[in-house]
Amino acid sequence: MLQVQDIHKTFGDFKAVNGANLSVGEGELVAVIGPNGAGKTTLFNLITGQLKPDQGKITFMNEDISQLPTHKICLKGLARSFQIANIFHRLSVFRNVQVSVLSQKGLSGKLFRPVQKVAVTETNNILESVGLIEKAQYIAGSLSHGDQRMLEIAIALGNEPKMLILDEPTAGMSPEETAATMALIQQLAETRGLTILFCEHDMDVVFNVSQSIMVMHHGSTIIQGKPEAVRVDSDVQEAYLGDDYA
Ligand code: ADP
Ligand code: MG
Repeated sequence: MLQVQDIHKTFGDFKAVNGANLSVGEGELVAVIGPNGAGKTTLFNLITGQLKPDQGKITFMNEDISQLPTHKICLKGLARSFQIANIFHRLSVFRNVQVSVLSQKGLSGKLFRPVQKVAVTETNNILESVGLIEKAQYIAGSLSHGDQRMLEIAIALGNEPKMLILDEPTAGMSPEETAATMALIQQLAETRGLTILFCEHDMDVVFNVSQSIMVMHHGSTIIQGKPEAVRVDSDVQEAYLGDDYA
């Protein structure tokens, strides 16, 4: 579904992404791991068009998207969340998701009608699937950190993506919230037939849920493979994992 081939991105003379390769199959849950500063967020920005690559090719569903702007990539079915949640804090939870559903349908103008009865079922379905239906009328800014991260995923789902990219979805969460969030993400992948690419620093989470893991170091891909293969790779251990995961 997604192929990243030898992608490069330089900031000044600093090579933030320096030969990254990635392959994501339809329906897969794929993790990108690597130390802080390895280039994971930059790679995601390149895939979703926030940044343009200096070199290399990105193909999504057999189409070259390397030079497309963000909104065009989004319309093709590739949505993302950010490392820092990106929500409308003063709107209700419901409204945050409804806005996204409406904009996907090209109906954003309808938002200013007195009674906003549009896309209610669809919005509620999404809220249900991320476990926020009971908090639909809460002001988004009043949600816990974990719930705000889930709301951001709900907003991304409003775009009806085929593939979802999540940048550290459990960052700043307690162990309990992390477990619950990952369970929800796994469930989303199954029930909605979503393909999910994420990066995450919690190695237990990564090795538990991923079908495939790509390891980045200094902007380059060291390896991509099944968790069992990545765990025993000597380059990975040297670069990153330490003996705990041998
Ligand atoms: P990760 O997400 O793996 O922690 P990032 O992709 O955020 O890594 O960053 C990779 C490197 O690129 C870091 O050293 C970071 O400081 C640098 N970097 C990221 N974005 C920029 C930018 N816009 N300008 C300059 N340097 C950047
Ligand atoms: Mg990052």
